[in-house]
Amino acid sequence: MLNGPVRHVVVVGGGSAGWLTAALLAADHDSASPSGLRVTLIESPDVPTIGVGEGTWPTMRDTLRRIGVSETDFVRACDATFKQGSKFVRWTRDHADDHYHHPFVLPQGYHDADLVAGWLRRGDTPFDRLVSFQPALCDAGRAPKQFGTPEYAAVANYAYHLDAAKLGLFLRAHCTQRLGVRLVSDHVDGVDAQDNGDIAALRTRAHGPIEADLFVDCTGMRALLIGQHYGIDRTPCGDVLFNDRALALQVRYPEADTPIACQTISTAQANGWIWDIGLSARRGVGHVYSSAHTDADAVEAALQRYIGATGGAECEIIARQSLAFDPGYRRRSWHRNCVAIGLSSGFVEPLEASSLVLVELAATMLSEQLPATRETMDVVAARFNDTFAYRWERVIEFLKLHYVLSQRDDSAYWRDHRDAASMPARLGELLTLWRHQPPSRYDLPRVDEVFPSASWQYILYGMDFRPQTRATTRRATDAARAEAAFREAAEIARRMRPALPAHRELIDHIHTRGLSPV
Ligand SMILES: Cc1cc2nc3c(=O)[nH]c(=O)nc-3n(C[C@H](O)[C@H](O)[C@H](O)COP(=O)(O)OP(=O)(O)OC[C@H]3O[C@@H](n4cnc5c(N)ncnc54)[C@H](O)[C@@H]3O)c2cc1C
Repeated sequence: MLNGPVRHVVVVGGGSAGWLTAALLAADHDSASPSGLRVTLIESPDVPTIGVGEGTWPTMRDTLRRIGVSETDFVRACDATFKQGSKFVRWTRDHADDHYHHPFVLPQGYHDADLVAGWLRRGDTPFDRLVSFQPALCDAGRAPKQFGTPEYAAVANYAYHLDAAKLGLFLRAHCTQRLGVRLVSDHVDGVDAQDNGDIAALRTRAHGPIEADLFVDCTGMRALLIGQHYGIDRTPCGDVLFNDRALALQVRYPEADTPIACQTISTAQANGWIWDIGLSARRGVGHVYSSAHTDADAVEAALQRYIGATGGAECEIIARQSLAFDPGYRRRSWHRNCVAIGLSSGFVEPLEASSLVLVELAATMLSEQLPATRETMDVVAARFNDTFAYRWERVIEFLKLHYVLSQRDDSAYWRDHRDAASMPARLGELLTLWRHQPPSRYDLPRVDEVFPSASWQYILYGMDFRPQTRATTRRATDAARAEAAFREAAEIARRMRPALPAHRELIDHIHTRGLSPV
C-alpha cells in the first residue's frame, strides 16, 4: 500500500470546492471510463454548504470549459451573469463621487509604454479610464460579448456572478451524470489511520468505511480532516485584515427589466464594506465587517440604508444569513495523503473574490500534478504547500492594499487599518519601492500570480497613490507611446459601447435562445 498507485480519490464535502475539485479530477482523468481514476464525493445530508460565494474570476471560464459544461446551460441553471471586474465606491474618501474600477482587461499598451508616467502627466484624469476601455463599458451597462459571440469567447474579458447553491446542484448533476463521479450522501463520523499516519478510510454512518488512496478535505470551515484529524495549524491574519463577520441578503429587483450591474460594486462603510452583486433573478447584497469595531445592529441599519438608496422602496429582501469567519490559512494544506481545498484550507474576506479562484488553482494543480503513487506524493505535497503559502500571503497583502491607501478618517476602523503595526512587512517594502516605480513582474514574479502587477496598479492609482517617476532618456518616445495607448483605449470604448448589448439583454437572449457552442 505504501508505494501503491493512486487509483481512487475521495472528496469529502459537496460545496463549491468539493464539486469543482471532483469535476476537474474526473474530467482530466477519465473517470467515466472503467480504466479511469475513481472519484467518490461524500457529502453530509446534515451539514449545509455555506451558501454564499457569488463573485468569480475569469479563470472560471477555463474551469467550466475544461469540465465540459455548456456556458448556456451554466448561465441558465445558476442564474449567472457576467462580471467585468469590481467598482470600489467611497474607499479613498467618504464621498458619493469617490470611485474607481478594477477591470479584468490589462491596461492598453501595458507591456509597451510607461503608462504611469503618462497618467501622471495628464493631471487629474482617473487612471482606470485612461488606460482601459472596460470601465466605460461597465458604466454604460454593456455586456462583455455580443449575441453571436460563441460560448466562453469574450469581446471584453469577463468572469461570472452566480448563485452558489445553484452552482452546487448544477455541478453535482454534471459530475454524477456525465463525468463518472460516484456520490455518497452520508456523514463522515471518523477516520481510520494506517500505521504510518496516512488516512486509510473514512467511517460513514450508513455506508461504513470508505477507503481511498488520496483524500481531499472540502468540508468547509469544519476542516474535518486537515484540522480536526491532523491538527494542522492555521496562520491567522486577523491582525492585518480585521473583518470577521458578514450579513448576507438576497434582494429582489424592483422590476423584471431592472438593469443588471456588470461588475461587483463594493462600497466602503464606517466599519467594513458592502458587496452588491447582480444575478439574473435577484441581487446578492452583503455587509462584511469587523466585530471588534461594530455590532450586528449597526451593520443591519447600514445595509438597510444601502438597499433603500440603491434599489428603491419596492425592493424586497428574500433571504438573510449571518456568517462568522476567522481570517487565516492553513500552514500546510497538503499533509500525508490528505489535501485541503476551499474553506478548509483558509479564508479571508471576499473583497476581491479570491476564494473560488484559489479553489480552481488548487484543484487544477492537484489534477495536473496528481501523484501516480504514494511514493511520489510527498514531493508533490511540498510543492503544493509552497505554492499556496505564497499565494495566500500575496492575497492578504493585496487585500490590505485597499485599506492602507484609504484616506478615510471617519472611524477607528480605517485608522487602525493604516496603523503600521497592522501592515505586512513585505507590503511596506513594496509601497516604498512603488513610490518610485510601478508594480511589475519583478515584484510579482511567479507565472500564476493570483493578482498580477496590473491588478496592483489599478488599486494603487485608483486610490490616488502618486509615485515620483524617474526621468529617463527615452522620455519623449515613452510619452508618445503612452498617449497612443490612451487614445486606443478611448477609441475601443467608443466603438464597443454601441456594438454590445445591454447586460440584461444578453442574459435574456441566453435564457431564450442560447449562445452558439464552441
Ligand atoms: C460572506 C462570504 C462571502 C463570500 N463571497 C465570495 C465571493 O464572492 N467569491 C468567492 O470566490 N468566494 C466567496 N466566499 C467563499 C466561498 O463561499 C467558498 O470559497 C466556497 O463556497 C467554497 O466553500 P466550501 O465548498 O469550501 O465549503 P462549504 O460550502 O461549507 O461546503 C462544505 C461541505 O462539506 C460537507 N461536510 C461537512 N462536514 C462533513 C462531514 N462530517 N461528512 C460529510 N460531509 C461533510 C458539507 O455537507 C458541505 O457539503 C465567500 C465566503 C463568505 C463567508
